[in-house]
Order: sequence, then C-alpha cells, then structure tokens
Amino acid sequence: LTDVRHQLRALWELQQIDLKVLEFEKAAATIPDQIAVRERELEVLRTELGALNAEADTLRKEQRDTEATIRDDSAKAQKWKRRLIDIRTPREYQALSREAEQLERQIRDLEERVLALMTDIEARDKVIAEKNEALREVENTVAAAVRKLRQSKLDLEVEATKAAEGRSAKVAELGPNLVKRYDKVRGRRQGVAVALLSGPNCSGCNVEVRPQLVVEIRKLETIEACPMCQRILVIPSLVDGTESA
Ligand SMILES: [Zn+2]
Repeated sequence: LTDVRHQLRALWELQQIDLKVLEFEKAAATIPDQIAVRERELEVLRTELGALNAEADTLRKEQRDTEATIRDDSAKAQKWKRRLIDIRTPREYQALSREAEQLERQIRDLEERVLALMTDIEARDKVIAEKNEALREVENTVAAAVRKLRQSKLDLEVEATKAAEGRSAKVAELGPNLVKRYDKVRGRRQGVAVALLSGPNCSGCNVEVRPQLVVEIRKLETIEACPMCQRILVIPSLVDGTESA
C-alpha cells in the first residue's frame, strides 16, 4: 500500500483484529486460575476430612490399647483371686485382696473409658460419613465446573484463532516496515498501537496533541504518531466510513 489513507485504514483494521484476538486470549488465560480456585475448595475439604480421620484413628488406637490393658489386668486379677485361696496369714490375705480390689476398680474405670471412647468414635464416624458425602457432592460439582471451564478455554482459543483470520492478509497489505513499527508500539503500549484522534486528544493516552500536528493528521498525507505515547493516530472519519477512500 502506498496510499496513506489505505495504510492508515489497514493499520486500524489490523488493530481491531488484534484487539479481538487479545480479548479472547486474555479471557482464556484466566481459566487455569479459575480451575485452581475450584480445586483448592476440594483440597480444603480433603484436608479437613484427613484431620478428622486421623483424630478418630487415634481414639480407636486408644480403645484397642485400653481393651488390651483390661484383658491383661483381668487375667492378673483372676490369678490373684486364685492365689488368695492358698494364703494362710491374714495380713498377707488382706494385702493381696486389697490389691485385687484396687485392680478391679481400675478395670471398671478402664471399661468406662472404653464406653466413652466408643460413644465418641461413633459420633465422629457419623460426622466423617456426612462430610465424606458432602465431599463427594462437591467433587461432582467441581468436576462438572472444571469440565465446563476447560471447554470454554478451548472455545475461547478457537474464537481467538477465528478472530485472527484476515490478519496475515492485512500484514501482507501493510508491508514489513509499517508492521514492524506497529508491532513495536503495540508491544510497549498494552497491545494498542493505533489510537483515534478524539477532538485534539490522543484517545490512547488522553494527552492533547498540538494544533499543528492535528492539522497534519487531518491531511491524511503522512502517518503521524502521538508525541506522548507513540501510538499512530487516525481520525474517526477515516475509519467510520464517512471519509471516502
Ligand atoms: Zn497518545
């Protein structure tokens, strides 16, 4: 393209294509974070359940240990009672029978502890079962949400590809020098290399352009840039179709 009007129009159109592509790409780029947020919800629930299970397991171990102590102590108490039969001296008899009674009291205390543990474990198991069920529901919800998010990422990527159609034609039309200039500004200015002149202002950075430059831009004979942000400036009438080619 040698005609400046055509060049400016093509630059503007290339900019519109790239903005569309960028919009889809940005939207697609947010999706991995959204997926991570959903998966963290599950992690929190799983960690909580893990802690509850560990607590219940500790209590179960205490129950097993206490039951083992009860078995040992009961055997010991039986042995002592059998021995009482053979004891001849009253003092020895009294001493051993007192010890046997003490042991039996201890066994009853341990049995009470086992009952308390069983009640506690049962209540905890109920909570764990409920939380397990809730977790499964959340797992299903999250899995569905993640599937949907993955699909929308694919859709957005397809949209971005579609939006980029016609880009290479514009690039070829503009030629390497203008495209190089365009890409350079675009890279520095958040993807926007071409801005409209809005009144006397550059709509890219909102800075007022000096009158002489406005006159130059309006002539459409040269490609002018905003002195502040270096964006190529085009006048609205050129790109909204009111200015004839
Ligand atoms: Zn500017």
